[in-house]
Amino acid sequence: MIPFNVPPITGNEIYYIEKSLRTQKLSGGGPFTKKCEEWFERNFKCKKTLLVPSCTHALEMAAMLIDVKEGDEIIMPSYTFVSTANAFVIRGAKIVFVDIRPDTMNIDENRIESAITEKTKAIVVVHYAGVACEMDQIMKIASKYNLYVIEDAAQGVMSTYKGRALGTIGHIGCYSFHETKNYTCGEGGAILINDPAMIERAEIIREKGTDRSKFFRGQIDKYTWIDIGSSYLLNDISAAFLYAQLEKAQEINQDRLTTWNLYYANLKGLQEEGCIELPYVPEECKHNGHLFYIKTACLKEQEDLIKYLKDNGIMAVFHYVPLHSSKAGTQYGRFSGIDLYTTSHSERLIRLPLYYQMSPRHVTYICDVIKTFYEKR
Ligand SMILES: *Cc1c(COP(=O)(O)O)cnc(C)c1O
Repeated sequence: MIPFNVPPITGNEIYYIEKSLRTQKLSGGGPFTKKCEEWFERNFKCKKTLLVPSCTHALEMAAMLIDVKEGDEIIMPSYTFVSTANAFVIRGAKIVFVDIRPDTMNIDENRIESAITEKTKAIVVVHYAGVACEMDQIMKIASKYNLYVIEDAAQGVMSTYKGRALGTIGHIGCYSFHETKNYTCGEGGAILINDPAMIERAEIIREKGTDRSKFFRGQIDKYTWIDIGSSYLLNDISAAFLYAQLEKAQEINQDRLTTWNLYYANLKGLQEEGCIELPYVPEECKHNGHLFYIKTACLKEQEDLIKYLKDNGIMAVFHYVPLHSSKAGTQYGRFSGIDLYTTSHSERLIRLPLYYQMSPRHVTYICDVIKTFYEKR
């Protein structure tokens, strides 16, 4: 069986974990946490990065940082992971879902403005498959209506939009280091604070609502409770694991892109014949090979092909069931405008196996199986 995902391992994880054990500083904010945070700040030109236990936690911190209150409205696509919405719902917000663009599966920047009301507080963009949303236009709309922009860049680490790293363009960016993402430590995440006015408060919220970070830096004599917060620190052992991956970030990125390009080259013919659709990457976006998907003609064909791949030893999977049609989604959100593409295109999408150091022979085999499926039709 060709698995859908294999978590990346670079070989240095054990070495750095052993080093971490010798430091005897295993809690959050330790030496490896600092190394990772500085890595992002240096390489992505980001003002402040804080490691957190997951992207879900980064999104929860974002909701606290922008002071989401009961009745506030948050705009986002329905085609996303539950955490994008949940983080704001638990602070009392109502979710306003906006349709996606069928070419990138990202929020349609042209449908955001009509979803804005007096209660709108923020736009949460999701860079699906590590391909950037149309950020120039979205930032322009946000500044016109005085809204926050939060980037769910869980899939977008190492991707860029007009040369800028995803996660560094909105007021706040959120990363995931879950084992299914490009860089991992099992479970982990980061919050990128791009608005300097939020940096001090982000440190406080992450430290249970205290100014302990200042205390550790020797800036104050005692630390106390000064704001809301929780325990949003990643332990330093996980950070040590992650650091081994960040050191190899270029190599992992290049390897995934090579696999992605091989899929594309092999399946281009089927797209030209009108059997399937392949992903589209706009000119101004450099992606990170996070995932490779194809789109079938309809739901029935999607189900048939997933089964056919499975029968041939290949694990391929669908992706998000749109949030607005889920049980919680109908309770906590509403869809703005018409659902032209969210449902219809999610029902056609199949994600193919893609992971670091995937064998090119496997890619060719998978493409051959897909070609045989269409030849038989
Ligand atoms: C993976 C993912 C998340 C959640 O990340 P965790 O680190 O598991 O909390 C959130 N949003 C998107 C778009 C994701 O792909």
